[in-house]
Amino acid sequence: MMNFENKSNEFEVFHTQLKEALGALGIKALSDAQADQLYRYHLLLYKTNEEMNLTAVPEGDAVPLHYVDSLLASSFLPNKGQVLDVGTGAGLPLIPLAIARPDLTFVGLDSTEKKVSFVRKTIKDLGLENVQVWYGRAEELANQYRESFDAVMARAVANLYTLSELCIPFLKIGCDFIALKGSLADKELTASLNHIMELGCDKPKRNEFELPVRGETQKRVVLSLRKVKSTPAGFPRRFGAIKKAALQIQ
Ligand code: SAH
Repeated sequence: MMNFENKSNEFEVFHTQLKEALGALGIKALSDAQADQLYRYHLLLYKTNEEMNLTAVPEGDAVPLHYVDSLLASSFLPNKGQVLDVGTGAGLPLIPLAIARPDLTFVGLDSTEKKVSFVRKTIKDLGLENVQVWYGRAEELANQYRESFDAVMARAVANLYTLSELCIPFLKIGCDFIALKGSLADKELTASLNHIMELGCDKPKRNEFELPVRGETQKRVVLSLRKVKSTPAGFPRRFGAIKKAALQIQ
């Protein structure tokens, strides 16, 4: 009984913290059932993190730094279709968005097998029916799934130059690449704008948010880039070649 009460109190704290932060940022609130699913993901993430390195964010900061941060992308996603999360890791922003947007289907992609296994188990445990996860490297799967997705997103995977080359080939023309970035967004954008346009996207729309973290705020920038023409054949290059080119433009 005691245990049950403690658990439900923890959920209340989690839910309240989530509601307040989403409200402050003007993001649509989750229903009680959605918040409960997100809390179950939270418990799985931090329990598994004891055995496996999934996140460096302390458990007490996970609501703003993982879940609210992930949900910033929600309003930039389309109204229907299939969304790809490149380098999803432990399932971020994939799982919070799959919970918040049952009207969309999601694919998470990651090159680390144990992280993919964790996300796969999570999807099963939570009973999420609109999301799946693939094990592989973006640059190796890009030709097979070229121009197949209605949105492609990524958080904390690579600099914008590299990320654009990994993500934009997967995107259908007329759809958006959504990059969740922090304070380096503008610097990275200046350095990679020519490359982004070469890959087929237009100039990005830049959306700035102040994420409340422990009584302070952290800057977040959601870049939304519309694909206007096909990515030229030859992109993405092999990862080593992308990395080398990225270093040259810094
Ligand atoms: N998006 C998550 C994870 C960030 S860590 C989050 O926001 O927390 C970066 C992840 O990208 C790692 O799990 C790594 O395995 C994956 N990754 C890096 N390069 C990749 C590539 N070329 N293709 C697929 N996944 C990649």
